[in-house]
Amino acid sequence: MKFYITGGTGFIGSRLCQMLVEDGHHIKAASRNPGKHSGSGNEKLQFVPVQDDPSDHLSETDVVINLAGENIFGKRWTKSVKKRIYESRIRTTSALVSGMEKADKKPHLFISASGVDYYNDQGDDVITEDSESGDGFLADVCREWEAESARAADFGVRVVNPRFGVVLGKGGGALATMLPVFKSFIGGSLGSGKQFFPWVHISDLCRSLLFVVKNEEISGPVNITAPEPVTMDTFTSVLGEVLSRPSVFRVPGFALQAAFGEAAEMLTASHRVVPEKLQKHGFDFDFSTLKPALVDLLLKN
Ligand code: NDP
Repeated sequence: MKFYITGGTGFIGSRLCQMLVEDGHHIKAASRNPGKHSGSGNEKLQFVPVQDDPSDHLSETDVVINLAGENIFGKRWTKSVKKRIYESRIRTTSALVSGMEKADKKPHLFISASGVDYYNDQGDDVITEDSESGDGFLADVCREWEAESARAADFGVRVVNPRFGVVLGKGGGALATMLPVFKSFIGGSLGSGKQFFPWVHISDLCRSLLFVVKNEEISGPVNITAPEPVTMDTFTSVLGEVLSRPSVFRVPGFALQAAFGEAAEMLTASHRVVPEKLQKHGFDFDFSTLKPALVDLLLKN
């Protein structure tokens, strides 16, 4: 199949492109700096510049995957940062949908990213794809991001919004932020520690997207989180155990608020999300429980 991917140079996108190439697909990865990423030597993976009107590329595409967006981690959400977080997602999505509308031949499928921040903090209650959306900046961004992508259904494209949990992988994402702290023997929990942390192994995430591509009956929102979410206390304690480091420290909610402002909500909100739709359609996770996932990522080459 032929894929057109935005954000294919990022933490998730680069792993996904690798998996798709291994599965025999052809990919055009749209980047703001295609020259920086070209030269992989793989003729099945081509980097092209981001365009306001990508309709020519989309006419030759079976599946469009939209992962582009300003990174939200590790910075205070000032007014200008929020504008970049919002516009980088909505504008990219809007250009893709308009491009599909204009394309002579439409793609079959549009997978456009979203996140579990779509949902309210629901304490210990289990969250499925049918649960209510929340308040706050990220929930607003996710809702509008999904609504913009849904316009593609008007001209016959199957639309899927994967709501990603916290993605665990090598060399990026949440683990890259946590590891230096734990390796310095000062790791520990964030906030109350009782909040649910909806993690997913990056390999299961990429496999689940391929599963969605191949299962035409799946559409709409799809939670992409491991079947067994854990509390933040459990997460940090298992991480400490796998690294043979203590996890006794705690960064309280007020300190996170002081350091990250509004972004602290992302770390302290409880999201006990389960992948109900994926499991109903028979997707098998390689990493359902946390410890084997962390062992795989941290102790194997
Ligand atoms: P990354 O930050 O690693 O990569 C995103 C890509 O988006 C970059 O490689 C870049 O591509 C492009 N990009 C970055 N800033 C901008 C901008 N201002 N305007 C346009 N394009 C930009 O993200 P991830 O791979 O971690 O995540 C992919 C998507 O999944 C994101 O939208 C993210 O919000 C969502 N998500 C991720 C989670 C996670 O745990 N990682 C959790 C929940 C959701 P280039 O420079 O080549 O143009």
